[in-house]
Amino acid sequence: MDIAARLRFDSIVTSEIMKTRFLFGLLVLSGSFTLLTRTSAATKASEDYPFKPVPFTAVHLDDAFWAPRLETNRLVTIPYAFGKCEESGRMDNFERAAAVLRGENISNRKPPGYPFDDTDPYKVLEGASYALAVQPDPKLSAYLDKLISLIASAQEPDGYLYTTRTIDPEHPHKWAGTKRWVNESQLSHELYNAGHLFEAAAAHYQATGKTNLLHVALKEADLLCDTFGAGTNQLHIWPGHEVVEMGLAKLYRVTGNPRYLALAKYFLDVRGSHPGGDDYHQSRIPPMEQTEAIGHAVRAGYLYSGMADVAALTGDEQYIHAIDTIWQNCVGEKIYITGGIGARHNGEAFGNNYELPNLSAYNETCAAVANDYWNERLFLLHGDARYMDVLERTLYNGLLAGVSLDGTKFFYPNPLESDGHYERSPWFGCACCPGNITRFLPSVPGYFYARQKDRIYINLYAGGTADIHLDDGRKIRLTQETSYPWDGAVKINVGPEKASRFTLALRIPGWARNEAMPGGLYHFADTNTESVTLQVNGKTAPLKLENGYAKLDRKWKAGDVVTFNLPMPVRRIVASEKVKADIGRVALQRGPIVFCAEWPDNPNGKVRNLILPDDKPLSATFEPALLNGVETISGKALAISKSADGSIVKTEQNFKAIPYYAWANRGPGEMIVWLRDSDDGVQMP
Ligand SMILES: [Zn+2]
Repeated sequence: MDIAARLRFDSIVTSEIMKTRFLFGLLVLSGSFTLLTRTSAATKASEDYPFKPVPFTAVHLDDAFWAPRLETNRLVTIPYAFGKCEESGRMDNFERAAAVLRGENISNRKPPGYPFDDTDPYKVLEGASYALAVQPDPKLSAYLDKLISLIASAQEPDGYLYTTRTIDPEHPHKWAGTKRWVNESQLSHELYNAGHLFEAAAAHYQATGKTNLLHVALKEADLLCDTFGAGTNQLHIWPGHEVVEMGLAKLYRVTGNPRYLALAKYFLDVRGSHPGGDDYHQSRIPPMEQTEAIGHAVRAGYLYSGMADVAALTGDEQYIHAIDTIWQNCVGEKIYITGGIGARHNGEAFGNNYELPNLSAYNETCAAVANDYWNERLFLLHGDARYMDVLERTLYNGLLAGVSLDGTKFFYPNPLESDGHYERSPWFGCACCPGNITRFLPSVPGYFYARQKDRIYINLYAGGTADIHLDDGRKIRLTQETSYPWDGAVKINVGPEKASRFTLALRIPGWARNEAMPGGLYHFADTNTESVTLQVNGKTAPLKLENGYAKLDRKWKAGDVVTFNLPMPVRRIVASEKVKADIGRVALQRGPIVFCAEWPDNPNGKVRNLILPDDKPLSATFEPALLNGVETISGKALAISKSADGSIVKTEQNFKAIPYYAWANRGPGEMIVWLRDSDDGVQMP
């Protein structure tokens, strides 16, 4: 379906947008807009995060692992996801809402499938904006402009944008409630829609410099500022699905308008402040009093990320204290070895402590994205590598598993075991996950580097270049050469514009320091005795670790070279014995990659019957033709089967494991991450 054929814009709407865009553009260009609002700030803002990310636009990856994935996302998944949004009526919802606003009598007033269907185009638009910032694409750019005009045309005159109500205010989706906002703290998702609009608008503005979507977002943000707050004529309601807090923080950063930051903080402060809340929505008690990762996992991850943003921008220590405590609970008791969070299907929620079933693990792809948003923000607050350890684990395993290698099939839950009845889907009725992975992947280069004063943090490793500007204006180009995540040898060419003193802080991952996970939920079964080596210009440099970083403080000149090696033996991981599901079982990891055994690689298409004894040696091999090129782990395992007389028979056979993220690309069948390591009490699966 060609979207162009569907768009019949009201010329007045378009010309209004053009006028506003022109005005806004002038203000932004002259800097007066930012200056004006900053000087009139009622809320004294802090300096934002103490550690500054190096933006994804300044980091160019040209490696064999990420670069092809980002291209697949740009060339395949983004157009595919837009196509699915068109096909499934998500664009049509905006068109029907626009027609109603123009006073047309439309025949189809059926509400959208979900009241948050508007967020799917927003999320893909956000991802497409990131992609555009890196790679100009006039066709994509034109498509976005048309889509933005369509979105703008569905916005009510006062800024309200929620197609299900606008299409038929008398009979919106049953979750929407009979009037604006009445069901917001439960199921209407009006503020969730707004939050994703804000995130998309900030990304689109930063990526393209265009203000067309930003204009739509600010109009709605202004409505929210008037509607919600502590005033007697305002609504004291918390968002039922968090994300608007992060979105408002981004609008604040873009515009400098303190109202947006104040509203983000209000949405946190009002949460749990009066009866009616519950754990599912993280609204039973105020966020700053919360100590445990609870309820719907995506909502939770977005809430904690929003708390970090507001804390960074306002200096509110109480929010930092709360998310630090919740993080300890999450990584110490509730996270999977893949970095996935949210164990339960029921309520898409965190389970109790140590409740981490494998076959029925929920681990929504969106929750992995949310977990990485949260851990990135904790790093930006604290500058500690342990948050990047969790981010990396989630990124390479639980998050990346959410999309097929060809970029057109998706997982919603990400279990750690399959009996063969679970497959990826081309799309979902509730399509939050495809959009989330589509928007997250293009931003991956933005997680690699950070800076603070005269320190540069190198958090992730992949071949490519980064152009880093320190606060004092110094420019430094870093070039990484590495085959990470398959090989831990990394060479970094240091290229300061002028020779000068600064510090390079290299993250030495937990897995290279015999720490499987901060918090002790998982540990390596053995101790790796191969040590990390570090050299500067070929000379061994001392490995002094501080917060997980090897710091090299010296006067650098162009042509300096840092080399280091993170040994990547195959490691067995065991879980705390409090995790019942993993008792008597081991998982395999090499470097940052968690492995699984999948049906095509093991005899008889079975893997749930395997025992991997602790003394069986395992080796790793790179297989360029398998699954777009992956390292595999092989050795011998015991397969259990039942003989004719009913007794259990063990047979030694070849064993092979592949990276967890690459499973389910070869048709449905068995898969398992946690393998039995002995036949104690073994039963036929
Ligand atoms: Zn989702």
